[in-house]
Amino acid sequence: MKANPITNLLGPMDGAEIPGGCESCEAVQRFRMESALLFVLEVVHDDDCPSLKRGTGR
Ligand SMILES: [Zn+2]
Repeated sequence: MKANPITNLLGPMDGAEIPGGCESCEAVQRFRMESALLFVLEVVHDDDCPSLKRGTGR
């Protein structure tokens, strides 16, 4: 079975967090491995983020 080059490249990134992603709070951007072919970069906001309260944070 051939290894998936994308998984090999990004697999170690699963769960990694990068500061930033929101101008209104101390959000972090978190890599999440949805599947072997799909990585999701989700923004994790502070609980009291004004952007979240407006419903436009995501
Ligand atoms: Zn935010």
